[in-house]
Amino acid sequence: MSDHPAIRLRDLTKVYAGGKRALDRITLDIPAGALFGLLGPNGAGKSTLINILAGLVTKTSGTAEVWGFDIDQHPRNAKASIGVVPQELLFDAFFTPFETLELQAGLYGVPKHRRRTMALLEAVHLADKAHAYARTLSGGMKRRLLIAKAMVHAPPILILDEPTAGVDIELRQNLWTLVRGLHARGTTIVLTTHYLEEAEELCERIAIVNHGRLVANAPTRALLAMAREKRVDVTLASDTPGLPALDGIARVERLGPRHFAITYDKQALSAGALLGRLTAAGHEVVDVTTREADLEDVFLDLVRRVPA
Ligand code: ADP
Ligand code: MG
Repeated sequence: MSDHPAIRLRDLTKVYAGGKRALDRITLDIPAGALFGLLGPNGAGKSTLINILAGLVTKTSGTAEVWGFDIDQHPRNAKASIGVVPQELLFDAFFTPFETLELQAGLYGVPKHRRRTMALLEAVHLADKAHAYARTLSGGMKRRLLIAKAMVHAPPILILDEPTAGVDIELRQNLWTLVRGLHARGTTIVLTTHYLEEAEELCERIAIVNHGRLVANAPTRALLAMAREKRVDVTLASDTPGLPALDGIARVERLGPRHFAITYDKQALSAGALLGRLTAAGHEVVDVTTREADLEDVFLDLVRRVPA
C-alpha cells in the first residue's frame, strides 16, 4: 500500500464564473484502498469536486493531489491515476462496447499488448454485448460500459459520480457487487451519491458535503453510532447548574436554568432508566420530550448546521 492518501485536498475551492461558490475550502484525505462515499444533496458540489480531479473543471484555489501527484504540477500523472465514471451517460452511439474500450485505451496510450478489452467487458458482464451497438444497450449496461471505460488504463482509483442515479433497484445491486469486486481486488473506490442508504450500504467511510463545505468525514460505523443516539429534553423542578455523569449518557447540553438536552445511547439505556437515575441523583423531573435519531436525521442535522 502507498504511503500517500489516494486523494488529498487542501482548501479546495471553486467559484464558477457568475459567482456560484460550488466548493468552499474542502480539506479531505481519502485513504488509499478505501471504499469511500462522498454524500450530499443535489447541488452540494460533488460533481464539481470530481470534475476538478478529472481535469474537466479548473479549481479556483487550494490544492488537490491524486495518488501523490499534484494536479497542477503533474496533471498527466494525476489523470493517469484515476478513472472517472461521469454522472451523465454520454455515449457515442455508433461504437460497440469493444470499440469504445479500444478507443479509450488508445486515448490513454495503453499499448495494444497491454489492453485487456475482453477481460474488462467480462468484468462488467458485457462480454456478450462486445460487438453490439451502444445504442442498443440498456441504461444499466451503459453504466457498466462506462465503468469499464474508466478502467482501461488500470488506474488505482476509480471514481463513480452518482453511479445509480436512474438505475433500477435490481441493476443497482449488480452494480454494487461489481464495485465491491473491484475494491476487493485493490482499487480505491470513491463514489458520490445523494442516497444515504447507498453510501451506508457500500462505503466504509463517508464524507458529507453541503453547500460546498465538508460537514462530516467519519467511518460509516461512527455515523451510524450517531444514529443510535436518542435525545431527551428534560425540565427539572428547580434550577440546576449541571447534571451528574451517568453511564450511557453521551452528552448533556444545558438549554436553560432547569432545561437540559440529554443525548444517550439507546442500546445502553432506556428513557425510563435514564429518568430513574436522574431521580435517584436527587433531580425532580417535571417534563420530558424525546426524539429518536436515525441516519437520515444525522445527515439532515449535519447538513443543516451549515447555513446556505
Ligand atoms: P452535485 O454534483 O453535488 O449535485 P454540482 O457540483 O453539480 O453539485 O453543483 C454545485 C453547484 O454549482 C450547484 O449550485 C450548481 O448549480 C453549480 N454549478 C455546477 N456547474 C456549474 C457551472 N458550469 N457553472 C455555474 N454553476 C455551476
Ligand atoms: Mg452531481
